[in-house]
Amino acid sequence: MAENAGNSANRGEKGGKGKKKLRILLRTFGCQMNVRDSEIISGSLLMKGYKVVDSSDDADVVLFNTCSVRQHAEDKVWSEIGKFKHETRIIGLVGCMAEYHKFDAFKKAPNIDFVCGPNNIASIPSLIEQAKAGNTKGMAIGQKQRDEFAYNTNFQAKKDDSFVVIAEGCNNFCSYCVVPFVRGRERSRNHKDILREIQALVTKGVKEITLLGQNVNSYRWNGVDFSQLMNMVSGIEGLRCFSFVTSHPKDASKDMFEIIAKCSNLKKYLHLPLQSASDRILKLMNRGYTLKEYLKKIEDYRKIVGGGLSTDIIVGFPTETEGDFQDTLEVLEKIKFDNAYIFKYSTRPHTEAAKLEDDVGMQEKKRRHKILLDLQKQISKKKKI
Ligand code: SF4
Repeated sequence: MAENAGNSANRGEKGGKGKKKLRILLRTFGCQMNVRDSEIISGSLLMKGYKVVDSSDDADVVLFNTCSVRQHAEDKVWSEIGKFKHETRIIGLVGCMAEYHKFDAFKKAPNIDFVCGPNNIASIPSLIEQAKAGNTKGMAIGQKQRDEFAYNTNFQAKKDDSFVVIAEGCNNFCSYCVVPFVRGRERSRNHKDILREIQALVTKGVKEITLLGQNVNSYRWNGVDFSQLMNMVSGIEGLRCFSFVTSHPKDASKDMFEIIAKCSNLKKYLHLPLQSASDRILKLMNRGYTLKEYLKKIEDYRKIVGGGLSTDIIVGFPTETEGDFQDTLEVLEKIKFDNAYIFKYSTRPHTEAAKLEDDVGMQEKKRRHKILLDLQKQISKKKKI
């Protein structure tokens, strides 16, 4: 049981005329998808009459909207939750870590009052109410698909720019990644709902939109693909500028590049995660492309669009040799990305890669990470001059 679980007298009262509103702090960890999810959660809490606050000093409830992609990110959240272990506040673990650890989350951090997976976020208000009534260890996980109304909570953190989710989940099962397990299989939203949401944001004065998905370029709804969707979004009157993230190299096509080139209000920028330049490692990662295929896409993009380019790289994947690493270093030097996000591999339980021995030591991962980081810093600096 959580400490003082069920002591509702200590936990304030829900909003309502003459009553003190329950104050909620929502802390967000991880990617843009989580940032957008936190807006959805904040919107739904405000609609129910709660007060969303900025500091834990003022909060009756602290929610952690979390990321499971790397061990380091999880460790940080466990440590932050631990800071509340002697307090009476309601603590909710939300998002990918909730879905990933399920009931085990209560064992890891006994002061957690409820867990709620990313597709179940509509249940958060009722989980809070249950915890407030003393029913701790609430759990809402496993929903396959988020209800469309979740996108209509009408709250954005920023005035001028906003994220719009076009698809959720992923079918790619890269061997190191937990996303298909925690966010579920890929689902695209109806393009009409997406266009309506963007139009409403533009009417409210939003100038810039980022289309979000784990794998935006495999978007498909009733015959409408990602290129067609971009065309439609581009035609929304008053939308000054838009972009998208993240694309998968195997789904990046000349068609897509031609649309990027054609749409005047679409940012000329592509984030295309390479992860490794060794075909052997790419195969072990189950990435679905070879280096040669990736390089051809970069060549096409540069010819057709000619815009900015960034990537993700993982160093120290199991069995990565010095030779594999040198291949990646060479390719980074050759492509000259505007930006590259370099990560050290960490084993994620239940993934395919977890079956392989994590045989590149931490010191070696740090060395490889630093070499790539230093190289990229030089490249980015030169490109900005
Ligand atoms: S494409 Fe691969 S890395 Fe990206 S979310 Fe899907 S499984 Fe994870």
